[in-house]
Amino acid sequence: MNITVKEPLKNYIAGQWKDSSTGRTRKIINPANGEIIDTVVESGKEDVKNAIAAAKKSFYESGEWRRMCGQDRADILFKIARELDNVKEKMAELDSRNQGKPYREALGDIQDAVYCFRYYAGLITKPCGGVYDVNDEFGPMHSYMVHEPVGVCGQITPWNYPLLMGIWKMAPALAAGNSIVFKPASLTPLSTVKMFEIFDKAGLPAGAANLVLGSGDTVGSELAASNDVDMVTFTGSTVVGQEIMRAAAGNLKKVGLELGGKSPNVIFDDADLESAVEWAMIGIFFNQGEVCSAGSRIIVQDTMHDRFVKRLVERAEAITIGDPLKDPDMGPLVSEEQMNKVLDYIRIGKEEGAKCLCGGCRATEGDCAKGFFVKPTVFDGCSPDMRIVKEEIFGPVVTVQTFSTEGEATLMANDTEYGLAGAVFTKDCARALRVIKEIRAGITWINCYNPTFNEAPWGGYKMSGVGRELGPHGLEEYQEIKQVNINLSETPLGWYENE
Ligand code: NAD
Repeated sequence: MNITVKEPLKNYIAGQWKDSSTGRTRKIINPANGEIIDTVVESGKEDVKNAIAAAKKSFYESGEWRRMCGQDRADILFKIARELDNVKEKMAELDSRNQGKPYREALGDIQDAVYCFRYYAGLITKPCGGVYDVNDEFGPMHSYMVHEPVGVCGQITPWNYPLLMGIWKMAPALAAGNSIVFKPASLTPLSTVKMFEIFDKAGLPAGAANLVLGSGDTVGSELAASNDVDMVTFTGSTVVGQEIMRAAAGNLKKVGLELGGKSPNVIFDDADLESAVEWAMIGIFFNQGEVCSAGSRIIVQDTMHDRFVKRLVERAEAITIGDPLKDPDMGPLVSEEQMNKVLDYIRIGKEEGAKCLCGGCRATEGDCAKGFFVKPTVFDGCSPDMRIVKEEIFGPVVTVQTFSTEGEATLMANDTEYGLAGAVFTKDCARALRVIKEIRAGITWINCYNPTFNEAPWGGYKMSGVGRELGPHGLEEYQEIKQVNINLSETPLGWYENE
């Protein structure tokens, strides 16, 4: 009898699928049932160095990708978007199975990833740069500015949006003409490997996009520290972001950081109750609460508190939990470790004296028996000094605080080291604008929570990050700006000569 042993999924370096130098592998787990769904190579520093060397060769020696005109690069990116669109259901299934998010949410992520490629494919062919009207102190001069790719970009992503967080980095970096070395989260690499199969077919020149699978300690830290990497962009926890910034200091590489959050969701008593509750639910329970911008701190006016909390708890208790491929409201957390971390915070919240109104434990019924499921949890009576109010939990746990005046609300909203997101619910437009102006955060919403667009910049204030992704800013992050000054006395331009 022939027994076929499935090969582990490999790195992609210089246009070739490669085993790792360590010979080690990592098992990839389905968090809904704890079963092994695939195996991938576990890379060592040598693999990272090889990938960086391939990217460096592609950028500095061959220069094929960087020198390609924007329109030709755009053609390849549009082709990538088309190929991804063609397999979006399969990709969504992979992310749902690997990360635990409900299938329809995973499908939404992949659709966004397709649009993101299209957006940057389009943007790279649009006008950029500028011409300056400079003084004639040095004789007649012409001054203009161009955008150029940065060089070799190391990119590191978390597990909560396995493919999408990567596309927010890869699409603009490639559109700008950089060569990249990409490291997905070690827990959730499967859809990214498929993405590189698409890159391979789409005709990206060898070395323009490289993939290294492995741990943050080994692969990620090498990308951050290597003097051959010109820029490192990272999405993940604030503590690792700080390490990356320190490691990047060696060659002063450019750094982009998208980090954690503890975002306020401020609800005034004139808001529509049902709508505010629905958006608050999306704000905290979407993707099992494993969302950097989650509205994890509800700050509700005292005159609205009882009505709001009663309805929120009713809705939270009605949430369906189960196998993400069967499309319940919520799936499992990404890993046993993450589940235990969240359960630990729930224990801490109870010990701190917050009132646990619903959830507060693991879900183990039916489909949930073997997986890492946590029930939607609402803590009321929370105060600013509690750890569950201060620290990012990254799970389906929300805290409720109350305020009476607008001034108190904004003080509470800003009482955090983070500054990623925030929202306000009120029918009073002037108040909404005042409160949003006061909230120190990069992504804000009025009478909604979570809508995100490829066209608009994404990123945090304070300890939530440095730089922006998405929109034109997301492309500019991956570009250097060059100033060119021409002495027209020595190099007459056609139009100047004719004057
Ligand atoms: P994490 O910081 O543990 O890991 C993120 C990535 O960094 C992974 O690929 C990991 O392997 C790698 N890594 C770990 N240690 C490293 C090191 N020393 N050097 C280099 N790389 C290293 O984060 P996580 O648990 O995967 O994700 C959750 C965090 O991500 C949360 O804090 C969340 O708020 C944040 N996040 C932020 C955004 C945003 O846009 N701001 C989006 C999604 C997630």
